[in-house]
Amino acid sequence: MKVTEHIANAKGNTLFSLEIIPPRKGENIQNIFDHLDPLMEFKPPFIDVTYHREEYVYKKHPNGLLEKKTTRKRPGTVGICAALKHRYNVDPVPHIICGGFNKEETENALIDLNFLGIDNVLVLRGDAIKSEPQFKPEPGGNNYAIDLLHQVKGMNEGNYLDDDMENANPTDFCIGVAGYPEKHFEAPSLNSDLKYLKQKVDAGAEYIVTQMFFDNQKFFEFEKKCRAMGIDVPIIPGLKPFKTKNQLSVLPSFFKIDLPDTLVDAVEKCKDNKEVQQVGIEWGIQQSKELKEHGVPVLHYYSMGKSSSVQKIAKAVF
Ligand SMILES: Cc1cc2nc3c(=O)[nH]c(=O)nc-3n(C[C@H](O)[C@H](O)[C@H](O)COP(=O)(O)OP(=O)(O)OC[C@H]3O[C@@H](n4cnc5c(N)ncnc54)[C@H](O)[C@@H]3O)c2cc1C
Repeated sequence: MKVTEHIANAKGNTLFSLEIIPPRKGENIQNIFDHLDPLMEFKPPFIDVTYHREEYVYKKHPNGLLEKKTTRKRPGTVGICAALKHRYNVDPVPHIICGGFNKEETENALIDLNFLGIDNVLVLRGDAIKSEPQFKPEPGGNNYAIDLLHQVKGMNEGNYLDDDMENANPTDFCIGVAGYPEKHFEAPSLNSDLKYLKQKVDAGAEYIVTQMFFDNQKFFEFEKKCRAMGIDVPIIPGLKPFKTKNQLSVLPSFFKIDLPDTLVDAVEKCKDNKEVQQVGIEWGIQQSKELKEHGVPVLHYYSMGKSSSVQKIAKAVF
């Protein structure tokens, strides 16, 4: 079933869902199951699986020369989606990105997803390769999320890249896109970012999942601005349980988000990460309860392969 159908069937009740990341290459899929098993009591109707593009690594040879190699450290998105469907009977939502794919490769990946009975995708641009300053599309690839969205929409209408294909089977993907309550880091202003978000919705995005935020006011203001611009699709807040002192600098620098002073003060007072984790759980419960009361369709947790905080938050909220 589609994410939008799950939301409609919930009749205004807030659903629980989560995003997971594939394990590092060489690790076992059992890690994913061990993480998800304790969370299944909260009945997530869908689970997102992130996609991780290639990175450059440098291998040093005995003669001292460095060899540049391309590697994907977290492959397996499509396989995990199939495994989730099989093991839990939930709807997996694979993330698909522009970076690293030309349109032909994207089309082939979408055909695989369609044959696996996966009917949801979260369409994203993806970030630049780690060692590069700016995002560069592949030759013959999609440049922005909206370009990839057009490709998926096209396939939903039976339009494949090969124009002379007759009676091509239309796919039926429900398409989600990303939104940024604190604006995307490359956007010159929140309004400019919202203008492009509206374009994605007008082009066929059926719901929005937000970047993590720790201050609900940021979400409420974002949602209000979206509605004022005529963005009327469901907006799903993304929430990350705060866990370590290190995240005080890592989260703002990596995700370009602000942390509220009250949270920063509480974390700074902690003696160790066990205490930080407890602060994060309490913060997550408070954030989730307020968002649920506000009537958000889904609370979507960035669990990153660790279930204990999400489990404690969900127990208090659902
Ligand atoms: C919920 C969520 C899940 C994510 N999952 C993944 C994942 O699995 N894998 C991964 O690699 N990354 C993931 N990301 C990160 C995401 O790929 C990056 O934030 C990326 O930099 C932007 O992606 P986007 O889809 O928002 O891009 P876009 O919508 O293309 O926007 C990118 C930037 O360009 C601007 N823009 C958009 N359209 C245009 C246009 N037509 N002309 C000019 N400017 C434009 C926007 O304002 C924005 O600043 C995720 C992000 C979120 C919020």
